[in-house]
Amino acid sequence: MALPKKRHTKAARNQRRSHHALKKINLFYCAKCKEPILPHRACLKCGTYASRQVLEIKEKKEKGKGKKEKKKEERK
Ligand SMILES: [Zn+2]
Repeated sequence: MALPKKRHTKAARNQRRSHHALKKINLFYCAKCKEPILPHRACLKCGTYASRQVLEIKEKKEKGKGKKEKKKEERK
């Protein structure tokens, strides 16, 4: 296995890590539903982009019923 020839100094290590910080994401708000969205992407809640309907949004299923519970109901 390859081994480093010499130890890196703290300064070299810190200089390398100076580019590792995460940048804050730039959020916009949907003009229709006011939901936070990423720029240049359609709103995933209402499906609009630049005030046009571009996606069909399916309504969310009822909460509380998982796959197992549905299978139980089918057996009955
Ligand atoms: Zn929206």
